[in-house]
Amino acid sequence: MWAQKKISGWGRYPVVEADCIRPERRSELLAAFEDRGDEPLLAYGLGRSYGDAALLDGGRVVMTRRLDRMLEFDPESGWLRCEAGVSLEQIIHTFLPKGFFPPVVPGTQFVTVGGAIGCNIHGKNHHVDGCFGDHVRSMEILTGKGDIVECSRDVEPELFWATIGGMGLTGLILSVEVQLYRVANPYIEMETVRCENLDEFFVVSEESADFSHTVTWIDCAKRGAGMGRGIMMRGGHAKAGTQHEDGAVMELADHVMRMIDGRPFESNLWLNSATISIFNEVYFRKTPPGTHRTVVGYEPFFFPLDAVNNWNYIYGDRGFLQYQMVVPDNEATREIIDQISASGMGSFLAVIKDFGELDHGGLSFPMKGTTLALDFPNLGTPLLDLMNRLDDVVMSCGGRVYLGKDARLSEANFKTMYPEWEKWKDIRDKWDPDGVFQSDLGRRLGLS
Ligand SMILES: Cc1cc2nc3c(=O)[nH]c(=O)nc-3n(C[C@H](O)[C@H](O)[C@H](O)COP(=O)(O)OP(=O)(O)OC[C@H]3O[C@@H](n4cnc5c(N)ncnc54)[C@H](O)[C@@H]3O)c2cc1C
Repeated sequence: MWAQKKISGWGRYPVVEADCIRPERRSELLAAFEDRGDEPLLAYGLGRSYGDAALLDGGRVVMTRRLDRMLEFDPESGWLRCEAGVSLEQIIHTFLPKGFFPPVVPGTQFVTVGGAIGCNIHGKNHHVDGCFGDHVRSMEILTGKGDIVECSRDVEPELFWATIGGMGLTGLILSVEVQLYRVANPYIEMETVRCENLDEFFVVSEESADFSHTVTWIDCAKRGAGMGRGIMMRGGHAKAGTQHEDGAVMELADHVMRMIDGRPFESNLWLNSATISIFNEVYFRKTPPGTHRTVVGYEPFFFPLDAVNNWNYIYGDRGFLQYQMVVPDNEATREIIDQISASGMGSFLAVIKDFGELDHGGLSFPMKGTTLALDFPNLGTPLLDLMNRLDDVVMSCGGRVYLGKDARLSEANFKTMYPEWEKWKDIRDKWDPDGVFQSDLGRRLGLS
């Protein structure tokens, strides 16, 4: 049954009201599709997009999480067919013991396969393996006309590619065939490298191209000679026989972290530029200069933030926004970090990474260049002004902002950043001429 609910993305901004339904079976979903009347519709997975990508104010929202059946798995090839509400956490728990891991994972395992395709997510291995959509063979999609269409690279390829990174606007993905890859154990062989400033990051990043996975925590509060200092983590799935020396200690640390909950920190009082600078200083100093090798579990490597429950509450009751951009130009990266550090508004959870060549077109985000992702407490107009200024730098060199993290980009800036939007929209309109699938993000950007 449809029920009115307040919903938000991970940033808890904006919050909207929509008629929601949580079907457990495909038949219930199809009945809900018929029953929606003339109302627009949208899929909501695990709500880990930050802004309004999975929101539809006043419309009908299908919560897909319980459509979570594993349908078929080939243990020889690693091909998995599953419903789109299956989460990456579920896939890892089911198939890691059999020696398989998802092709691409984001910074949290609490995303659905449908959401991973909707935002065409990238991971620490983008420079080697591309995006999640590069490992999908086929999908079944419920289109705005009410048809269930099977599509792939060969069958209805336009719908297939428009849906990968299509932000839920081409239809509702019902099931997916995705390739899982063999791993020998649950461990990661990792190196940490301290970078004293942004120039050093660029050098270390180039030197790290042979590592399958790279990501760097960056201090966006530091000014002067240490601007852009950070700690790179690079590595890959461990070889057979690798031992995890600190296993018991790490397990205990993980257990302690899981007892922490972000909700009691919801007061706006404790997070300010002084506390952020102290946190950054401690975090930076805890890694001594040079390169250090270690073996860690896959969770602290891929999903460190998952250890703290509800960490999205720590930014206060107005929520937070993330700014994630990619620019093909080191000077633009420098200019953006300079503006953020001068503003004093940035937060401590900032990451920077070089993407590889694979550019997927349409509404997909990654392109060759450097991506920076940074959370900001929702400070209203001063923050929105800063983000508009950052947009100018991004646009000046042909870069883009990630729609899966966005809650405020203007239609004009979006259309400059994603010049293929018109081609994408023609395909979308062909499959959904009445505009059944809509979202607040789509309306804001002139796509719905
Ligand atoms: C801590 C954290 C770290 C993150 N790190 C990364 C990262 O490293 N890389 C990255 O790319 N992203 C990252 N993200 C963003 C996240 O991976 C994406 O937003 C992902 O899409 C969320 O999946 P979800 O199931 O929560 O989808 P939702 O947030 O619920 O939905 C996202 C979009 O997908 C659409 N969608 C969902 N299900 C379906 C379906 N069945 N059919 C059609 N459309 C559907 C929605 O309509 C919406 O447009 C991170 C998020 C968090 C909270």
